[in-house]
Amino acid sequence: MEILVTGGAGYIGSHTCIALLEAGHSVVVVDDLRNSRAEIIEKVERITKKKIQFYLIDVTNEVAVNEVFSNHSFDGVIHFAGLKAVGESVNQPLDYYYNNIVSTMILAKVCKKYGVKKFVFSSSATVYGENKVPFIETMELLPTTNPYGETKVMSERILADLARIDESFSVVVLRYFNPVGAHTSGLIGELPNGIPNNLMPYIAQVADKELDNLKIYGNDYPTIDGTGVRDYIHIMDLAEGHVLAMEKVVEGANIYNLGTGIGTSVLQLIGAFEKATGLKIPYIYVKRRPGDIAECYANVNKAKEELNWVAKRSLIEMCRDTWRFQISQNKKSDL
Ligand code: NAD
Ligand code: UDP
Repeated sequence: MEILVTGGAGYIGSHTCIALLEAGHSVVVVDDLRNSRAEIIEKVERITKKKIQFYLIDVTNEVAVNEVFSNHSFDGVIHFAGLKAVGESVNQPLDYYYNNIVSTMILAKVCKKYGVKKFVFSSSATVYGENKVPFIETMELLPTTNPYGETKVMSERILADLARIDESFSVVVLRYFNPVGAHTSGLIGELPNGIPNNLMPYIAQVADKELDNLKIYGNDYPTIDGTGVRDYIHIMDLAEGHVLAMEKVVEGANIYNLGTGIGTSVLQLIGAFEKATGLKIPYIYVKRRPGDIAECYANVNKAKEELNWVAKRSLIEMCRDTWRFQISQNKKSDL
């Protein structure tokens, strides 16, 4: 299949390009590199020994998107391009609503115009709000606490409405839990701008002595050890979920959780990282981070039954691969 990957130079998109190319598909990437670098595409080509056609465009530019579609006959689109920083979305709501929703609408519109029948969308576990864990696809969505989460809820609704009026338009909404780790080559991984917001990249930078210690946001949650619980999933497992979602022909709107189904606390993740690397992670407790929920993990039965997908990689592999990428970044900057 020929697949358009928007945001393909980003963290999840680049790993998904590897999985798609390795499964024998051809890949066209559009990305305006606002949160990534062109060299990532070259690295994906190096890893897979396959070529990617790359367009440097903004997906909210309808004319440019039309031009890309007119040059190809896509079998499907995977739409990763978007802004994703929860805290930033509170301060820049318009940027988030505009970029994340307009991009989805333009892509869907252009898909319809060019007869592209398959649309895979990056959603997030954040749409479950404060539902009771484990989160299951049939749950009613509860309000999220930030504009980022709202853009995911709204994009899901727009796509579901389109699938409702045209059964041949197949929409697959993938709700990601907490993607972590990196490709085993150590060539690509998550590259946060500045001080990381997310736990795993923060731990990696503490291990690397770029940061002094980890601040654990709260130890008074009603969880196994008082720290927040999340469902961490290896980025390559997540990537492979996209390949299966794309290959499986499903009519109408479909939603799948992509997680492991296992909840891990902050202290448990620190323990796994220390075991995987032999390094000590110093930490202190600080107050809860506003907007955080106590627990978030998936019921993953639907993806298993319908997509034949399960996450295979362990927490130790997630930590080991994160660390390999972290130190490979250092080697590069030493040169
Ligand atoms: P990322 O920032 O690494 O990748 C997004 C890519 O999209 C970047 O390369 C960026 O340059 C590009 N982009 C953004 N707006 C664009 C536009 N208008 N036109 C063209 N390119 C544009 O983020 P990621 O972690 O790979 O996330 C990918 C998708 O998955 C996002 O939609 C995000 O909201 C969603 N998601 C991510 C997580 C996570 O923890 N990383 C969790 C749930 C959902
Ligand atoms: N967390 C933490 N310190 C950090 C970053 C995160 O204690 O520097 C905690 C956070 O409170 C949550 C968990 O780690 O319980 C995962 O946070 P992350 O931001 O990675 O994911 P999200 O909260 O978006 O699911």
